Amino acid sequence: MALIVQKYGGTSVGSVERIQAVAEKVKASAEAGNQIVVVVSAMSGETNRLVELAQAVQQPPNERELDVLLSTGEQVTIALLSMTLDALGQQACSFTGAQVHIRTDSAHNKARIQDIDGARVKAALDAGKVVVVAGFQGVDEQGNITTLGRGGSDTTAVAMAAALKADECQIFTDVDGVYTTDPRVEPKARRLRTITFEEMLEMASLGSKVLQIRAVEFAGKYDVPLRVLSSFEDGEGTLITFEDDPTMEKAKISGIAFNRDEAKLTIMGVPDQPGVAHKILGPVAERNIEVDMIVQNISQDGTTDFTFTVNRGDFPKAMDILRRTAKELGAREVVGDDNIVKISLVGVGMRSHAGIASTMFQSLADEGINICLISTSEIKVSVVVQEKYLELGVRALHEAFGLTEA
Ligand code: ADP
Ligand code: ASP
Ligand code: MG
Repeated sequence: MALIVQKYGGTSVGSVERIQAVAEKVKASAEAGNQIVVVVSAMSGETNRLVELAQAVQQPPNERELDVLLSTGEQVTIALLSMTLDALGQQACSFTGAQVHIRTDSAHNKARIQDIDGARVKAALDAGKVVVVAGFQGVDEQGNITTLGRGGSDTTAVAMAAALKADECQIFTDVDGVYTTDPRVEPKARRLRTITFEEMLEMASLGSKVLQIRAVEFAGKYDVPLRVLSSFEDGEGTLITFEDDPTMEKAKISGIAFNRDEAKLTIMGVPDQPGVAHKILGPVAERNIEVDMIVQNISQDGTTDFTFTVNRGDFPKAMDILRRTAKELGAREVVGDDNIVKISLVGVGMRSHAGIASTMFQSLADEGINICLISTSEIKVSVVVQEKYLELGVRALHEAFGLTEA
């Protein structure tokens, strides 16, 4: 008998009919002789609706109260799915995050799971029930409700699988696996049979929302076999593997990720002296704004230009801070742009292939796309370009790196 954790995302439980389809799938897996834990998201659109309600009454919303509100979305779907299973003659029992002791830190809206007590879940499984757990939520040491950041139900599922030592964690969603790039942007994108943890981690951190980055981190850390599958059709999906597939050896690039949630800021004409980078970025970090790419130019006449990127939501706050810093440092000018996106090539094959970056720059140039910023690591190359070039850029690169053909 296998223990399987299955997670169904928002679209997969977006209506009563879809919840019924999920219940049929879960029932079939249970009847095949498996113990099943199901983790569900809120119905599609619900978390956004709740965020808008909160913003209508307080700007920005109180973080603790926002978590109380957001966690209700998942409480609706666990109850509805359990009732549907019950109606189909499959015994089931729903649990909120707090009820199964999903203990997190107290970082509201982006809490990290610290511990799960699987005893209650195990007892229900051993009693022959399907266990239905609310994704995206937990409880801190003081008993406050917390949420895990957008897309956090993936992480609940993986953490649950790790705690229960499940045989597999299956992420059911509205695509039938992990693709070479988001199939909504490039319809010629191809499903990958396997992808390594290392690559999946890069793809997720560079903007591919098919799996939440923390879910991939958790799965890697606790050796959880992880698979992405379609809720709507049968298939093998994509297996996230520890070893690179030897048959994929020749692939230089596994996928293309992109992130629209980007903005860049430049402070020009700052003195080129020790301590300046700290004076510029220190106040940004103090306000809890994450900085991604950083570029400092060479010095001309003893001054330099300094550019960095932040999440688009933090752009106004970061501009205010930078303008103040500019006054203190006697900088010449501050400029910002929040109409940019980051496009990244990801692949472990890059390690053994030269010329990836130059092929990338050539194909963007052929399309007349100007590159604003570049950053590289062992298994990725990222460029920042104007947002209007996102689709064109992704499709050109998909073609240039031969990702289209099977
Ligand atoms: P769920 O609600 O099931 O969690 P998400 O919307 O969070 O679903 O994630 C699935 C979506 O991720 C897909 O609909 C697709 O548009 C997007 N996506 C982005 N990059 C990729 C990729 N490389 N492969 C597959 N899907 C991707
Ligand atoms: N409902 C949450 C969200 O929309 C969590 C999730 O779906 O994974 O972000
Ligand atoms: Mg998701």
